[in-house]
Amino acid sequence: HKYVYDFTEGNKDLKDLLGGKGANLAEMTNLGLPVPPGFTITTEACQAYLATGREPDGLAGQIEAHLESLERAMGKRLGDPQDPLLVSVRSGAKFSMPGMMETVLNVGLNDQSVVGLSAQAGGNERFAWDSYRRLIQMFGKTVCEVPGEEFEHALDDIKRAKGTHNDLDLDAEDLRGLVDTYKKIFLKHTGREFPQQPREQLDLAIRAVFESWNAERAVLYRRQERIPADLGTAVNVVTMVFGNLGPDSGTGVAFTRDPASGAQGIYGDYLANAQGEDVVAGIRNTVPLQELEQLDKKSYDELLSFMARLEGHYRDLCDIEFTIERGKLWMLQTRVGKRTAAAAFVIAGQLVDEGLIDLDEALHRVNGAQLAQLMFPRFQLDHEFQPVAKGIGASPGAASGTVVFTSARAVELAAEGESVILVRRETNPDDLNGMIAAKGILTSRGGKTSHAAVVARGMGKTCVSGADEIDVNVPAKRFTVAGQTVSEGDVVSIDGTTGKVYLGEVPVMPSEVVQYFEGSLDPEHIDNALVRAVHRIMTHADGRRRLAVRTNADTGADAARARRFGAEGIGLCRTEHMFLGDRRELVERLILARAEGERDAALAALLPLQRADFEEIFREMDGLPVTVRLIDPPLHEFLPPLEQLAVNVAVAQERGEDVAKEEALLAAVRRMHEENPMLGLRGVRLGLVIPGLFAMQVRAIAEAAVACARGGGTAKPEIMVPLVGAVQELETVRAEAEKIIAEVVGDSGVEVLIGTMIEVPRAALTAGQIAEAAEFFSFGTNDLTQMGWGFSRDDVEGAFFWRYLELGIFGISPFESIDRDGVGRLVRIAAEEGRAARPGLKLGVCGEHGGDPDSVHFFHEVGLDYVSCSPFRVPVARLEAGRAAV
Ligand code: PEP
Ligand code: MG
Repeated sequence: HKYVYDFTEGNKDLKDLLGGKGANLAEMTNLGLPVPPGFTITTEACQAYLATGREPDGLAGQIEAHLESLERAMGKRLGDPQDPLLVSVRSGAKFSMPGMMETVLNVGLNDQSVVGLSAQAGGNERFAWDSYRRLIQMFGKTVCEVPGEEFEHALDDIKRAKGTHNDLDLDAEDLRGLVDTYKKIFLKHTGREFPQQPREQLDLAIRAVFESWNAERAVLYRRQERIPADLGTAVNVVTMVFGNLGPDSGTGVAFTRDPASGAQGIYGDYLANAQGEDVVAGIRNTVPLQELEQLDKKSYDELLSFMARLEGHYRDLCDIEFTIERGKLWMLQTRVGKRTAAAAFVIAGQLVDEGLIDLDEALHRVNGAQLAQLMFPRFQLDHEFQPVAKGIGASPGAASGTVVFTSARAVELAAEGESVILVRRETNPDDLNGMIAAKGILTSRGGKTSHAAVVARGMGKTCVSGADEIDVNVPAKRFTVAGQTVSEGDVVSIDGTTGKVYLGEVPVMPSEVVQYFEGSLDPEHIDNALVRAVHRIMTHADGRRRLAVRTNADTGADAARARRFGAEGIGLCRTEHMFLGDRRELVERLILARAEGERDAALAALLPLQRADFEEIFREMDGLPVTVRLIDPPLHEFLPPLEQLAVNVAVAQERGEDVAKEEALLAAVRRMHEENPMLGLRGVRLGLVIPGLFAMQVRAIAEAAVACARGGGTAKPEIMVPLVGAVQELETVRAEAEKIIAEVVGDSGVEVLIGTMIEVPRAALTAGQIAEAAEFFSFGTNDLTQMGWGFSRDDVEGAFFWRYLELGIFGISPFESIDRDGVGRLVRIAAEEGRAARPGLKLGVCGEHGGDPDSVHFFHEVGLDYVSCSPFRVPVARLEAGRAAV
C-alpha cells in the first residue's frame, strides 16, 4: 500500500489523501514554483495508526526511501554533522483546522549538526543555536508534552538577565546556554535525554502529528465545525528553508486579492529576518507587503508573478505563505483563501469579468449564509471606534444598548423601552426571559454551540460569545476589559458577525443589499461593486432554479415586501394572527357561546373582518398563488391565562362585583386546559369540533377572491387544512368547504384549490391516501420535526439543545436545518407516495426550513415545487435554489 507521496506525485485534487496543505504543495511543485522539496505521508497512514496504535506495515520503509531520494536531491543527509539536511514536520488535514494540530521545525539538529549548520550558514553561530533551541522547545512541547511555559520562562529569564525584551538581542553564547537549559527541562519532564538520532526525531515527530488529530482541542474544533472525526491528518515532511538568516531573509503572507472587500491589489505582511512562528506570535511588527519591493525587488517581482500564476491556475483568491532565504524566494503554502461574505460576491463577479469562471461557477462560489449576513444592518465604523474585545460571532447582527447583568434587570429596562445588552459569563436556561428582552447578548465564555449562542440564533438575536478578554463580575454589576471598567447603565455595541465588542454607541447603517432588494438602489446606476455582483449572481440563480420561492406572510405589508424580495406567492398565510387584538373578544364570544345563535353571531361578526384581511393580501399578491391555512392553534391561546383570570375573579368577588361573565370565562379556560396543547385540540380537530369555524374562514376566502376578480384582479387562493393525520379528517372538511365555495364562486371564474399540510408523521406515512383528497401538500416541517423527534419546539432550545450540540448528537438544531435521515425521510416518502397517487400533486414546504440553505438543497433533491419562507429569507432561498440546480 502506498503511504508516502513525493511532492512531484500529488496534485490539488488529492486533498482526501494528502490533506489540503500536501495537495497544494504538490500542485505548486508541479506548476514549477519554487517549493522546498519534500513528501507527504497520507491520511490513510494516520487512520491506520489511530486504529491500531502503531505505524502500519511498510510505512517505515517508504519513509526511508523517500528520505533517501530527498537527501540525494538536496545533496545533504538528514542531521549530517558537516552539512545537515533539516526538515519540518507539519500536519495538514483535508479541512483547515487553524492552530489545532502540531508542527515541528528544524528536525535533524543535534549537538554535532548544530556546528555544521553554523559553518554552512557562513559562520552564523547565533542562527544555528537559535534553530536548535527552537527544535528542543517545539519537540519537547508537541512530541513529549513538556509544559510550554517552562521553555518560555527560561527564555524570559535570559532576556531579563540581559536587560532586553527582544529575542534578537540574544547572542550565540546566550542561545547556547539556553539550549543547555532547555535540555535540562526536557530531561526533567521526560526522564530521558533529548534524542540525538535525526531519524528518531523524525519518527517521533510524525507520530506526534498523527496523535494530535485526537487532541482535545482538535476534537472540539471538529465538532463545532462539523468536520468528520475519522478523516485523520496527513503529515508533510519538508526541507527547511530559513527566513532568519539575516536582513536578506524573511517571511510573509500574501493574498491575491483583499480578503475583506474583494478589491484587486497587493495584500499581505512581511517580516524580515524571521521564521514563520514569529509572525504568528506577533513578537515583532510586520510591514505591508508592498515594502518588500524596496527591500528585495527581485523576490518581490517574482512573488507577484507567482501570485498571478496561482490565481489563474486556481481561478480564485489564493492565500500564500512564503520565505526568502538569502535573496531566494520559496513558496511554503498556498490555498484557496477564506474571505468575508462581501468579498465572496465581489470576487465571484470579478472572476466572471476576467473570463476565469462562468456564472454557474460563480453561483458555487457564494452561498445563502453569506447573503443572509449581507442583509443585516452593519456598524458604521470610523477611526473613533476600536474594538475592546473580540469573541465569537455567534448570532449575526449589530446591536447597541445599555449593559445589564441579570435577566431581571434586562426585563425591567426593556419594559421601559430601553435597548439592553445582557452581559453574562455564560447563560443558562434561567436567563431566557432576559435574553428575550435584550437586544443583544454578550458572554465571556463559550463557543458557537454554547447555550447563549444556540438560543440567540434560535431567536434571531445578535450574540457575541466567548469574548474572553472581558472579565464579568455579576454581583458587582460591572465588567472590565482592556483596563477599563464598564458598569451597569453604560452603553456597549456588539457585532454578532465579527464577534467584535465596542464601548459606546456605534451608529448602525442599513444593508445596501437590502436596499437593492427593496428596489431603492439600482445596480445599473450605482458604483457599488457588491450590489452589482449580488444583482448579477441573483439574476443568474433565478434563471437556473427549478424550485419556486414563496413567502410566509399574513399581512398585506409583509406580502408586499416579500414580493419586492422576489417571492412568487404566499406559501403560508397563518390566519390565527388575524384573531388577535380587538378581535380576541369575538373569539371569546365564540368559545363561550352556549346556544347556536350566539355562536353564529360571533362568527358572523368575524366574517367581514376576515374577508377584508384576505382581500388585502390577494391584492398585494395579485396573479400569484396564496395558500391560506385555516386556523391552527388551540383556542385557549386566545383566552387570558388561567392564573390571572382566577385572581381577577377572586378580587372582583371580594369587592362584591358581578362576576358572572368572568366566571363563565374562567370555567371555559378550566375546561379547555390541556397538558400537551401541541398534541391537543388544534388544527383540523378544531374544524371538526367547533361548528361553523372553518366554514366561516372558507367563506371569507372565497368571497375575498370573488371581490378581487370583480375588481379586475386575479386571486389564486389555496385553502390549506393543518394537522391532518388521516384522509377521513380532510375528506370531512373538504366536503363542507366545496359546498361553500361552489355557492360563493358561482360563475366568477375564481378557482380555489383545497390541500393539506403534511406535518403529522402519520400523514407522511399515509400520503398516498391523503393525496386522494388533496390538490396540494405543504410540508409543515416545524411540527413534523416536533412530532418526529418528540421535541417540544418551544422548550428544547433553552432547555437542553446546547448540550446535544456540545455532545455532537447533532451538528445543528433539527428545527433550523432539516434532519435528512429522519424527518427528511418522512418528507421523501410523502412526496413519492403522494405523487404516485395523484400525478401533478403540487408540493411545497412552509416550515422554517424553507429558508435554510442546506434544507433548500434537500427540497430540490426530493422534487418539491416550491419552498416558502419568511420575507427576509426569500433572497437566500432564491440563491440556494439556483445553487442546487447547477
Ligand atoms: C409547521 O409546522 O411547519 C408550520 C409551518 O406550521 P406552524 O409553524 O404554524 O405550526
Ligand atoms: Mg404546524
